[in-house]
Amino acid sequence: MALSDIAARVRQAEKSAERPLGAVSLIAVSKVQPNARVETVLHEGQRLFGENRVQEAAGKWPEFRQQFSDVQVHLIGPLQTNKLRQALELFDAIHTLDRPKLAQKLAGEVQTRGACPELFVQINTGEEPQKAGVIPAEADQFIADCRALDLPLRGLMVIPPVDEEASLHFALLAKIAKRNDLDGLSMGMSADFEKAIAFGATHVRVGSAIFGARVSG
Ligand SMILES: *Cc1c(COP(=O)(O)O)cnc(C)c1O
Repeated sequence: MALSDIAARVRQAEKSAERPLGAVSLIAVSKVQPNARVETVLHEGQRLFGENRVQEAAGKWPEFRQQFSDVQVHLIGPLQTNKLRQALELFDAIHTLDRPKLAQKLAGEVQTRGACPELFVQINTGEEPQKAGVIPAEADQFIADCRALDLPLRGLMVIPPVDEEASLHFALLAKIAKRNDLDGLSMGMSADFEKAIAFGATHVRVGSAIFGARVSG
């Protein structure tokens, strides 16, 4: 099946980039996939998944977590502050920390809960107006502000513009991470995860290459 192929390609890309074996976590992006497909991949041993909507994740993961042990689910889509509490119940990591208001609310919740998911700051490297994320010029300040709020950051995340060479964006993300002493890099999807690994990705988010095309409706 496709999962083992993709996992093998991840390992091969680690090797080609002279990165340690297992340096890259493969996140299987299960958004919009029928539960039967997700279950197949769970039976094949995959335990790390990505979802882009809080509501959709709430409808499937609590049950899968009861059936399968050690499941981890990462939020890779936008997070509204009114869904924050629910998100903290559901997710082990949030890849889309992208604005001061969210950081402030998150810091408050983390204080009361005494636990924090893994956090990635989303960077809008393409400076696309319709896209979420902190623009590169404001990244250092935002990262410093998160740290001042005692939010432990795992790294940075990017979704490159569709019509541009992804490598430039992977390189820019890696550069911003390095100057801020962050080593987590969430970048690379079905079409370009090997390239992202060459640029230092620690988390690749792969959907259609594992599950097949997303079925809508
Ligand atoms: C859907 C999605 C992916 C996976 O995309 P594929 O091209 O299917 O691999 C990765 N990252 C984010 C943020 C997504 O929303």
